[in-house]
Amino acid sequence: MIPDLSHALWKEAIEHYYWDRLDRAYEIASTQGLGQMGAYLSWFRMIEAEWLTRRDGERLKVEPWLELEWSPGDVGYADMRPIGEAVRAACDEVAQRLGWTHGASTLVSILREEARAPWSIAADGYCVDMHPYEKICLPRYALEDRIDFRRVVRHEYAHVVTINLAAGTAPRWLSEAVSVLLEGGRDRATERAFRDGSAQWLDPDPLEKSFSAEDRSRVWLAYRQSGLIGGYLASLEGELRVGDLLRAHAEGSFWKRLGAGFLGATHTDVAMRRTYGRSVSQVFSEALAWLRSGRPVG
Ligand SMILES: [Zn+2]
Repeated sequence: MIPDLSHALWKEAIEHYYWDRLDRAYEIASTQGLGQMGAYLSWFRMIEAEWLTRRDGERLKVEPWLELEWSPGDVGYADMRPIGEAVRAACDEVAQRLGWTHGASTLVSILREEARAPWSIAADGYCVDMHPYEKICLPRYALEDRIDFRRVVRHEYAHVVTINLAAGTAPRWLSEAVSVLLEGGRDRATERAFRDGSAQWLDPDPLEKSFSAEDRSRVWLAYRQSGLIGGYLASLEGELRVGDLLRAHAEGSFWKRLGAGFLGATHTDVAMRRTYGRSVSQVFSEALAWLRSGRPVG
């Protein structure tokens, strides 16, 4: 049952959540009257899952900037150092490929098995830009396969890099483009569907909205399209240049970016022109043409 709280109380719970004060967030979110709370269901599940892990959890400092959190009764490893090493190796790979120097404090939390976190929305994990640090939450089952685990960590840590390089201004589609690129792997069936038009290749605005669609297949397509755009950008001038694109979101004069904003351009429009000499919509249509011409196998 989901508590039926006033919006003010939910706001308070969510504020605590963003400071990773999970005890306070959970206390508020769970002790009120019960009822329908549709809009806050995902919030409740995130808070609950993360709090259960925190309550029974242990921590390991892997690097000054990197910490691991897990629930010993749940994870089943006597020694978590090899897992910490695997996380660090995956993060190192992302940093190297995007030209980023570690530094933003990052907490990787392996959520309790019974946690009903909104995996259906967030695929294999999720990353939250919290105040004390960036927090990556992964399901317990991500530990079952070593290769998959590193793939998931690369995806989520690429979000950490995107948040920091672009100073939080990158749109969701671009953030997922970078994360899916770094995650690696291909979905050939979906590529065929985009190629033959049975899956619609969206413009930037509808693509951005697709990430919050009710229809899960639509969300899946949004991830895949973004990943292909990431792949196309990397094919132009390599992955380090994709890092430059993110960096360009936060660079340049404030007044220039403000002026561009008045003209209806987004940070990404400005950054794309500076980095690749193209507009965002040009990149979208070129990426589809690249896919149709048979993207190189990589
Ligand atoms: Zn993602």
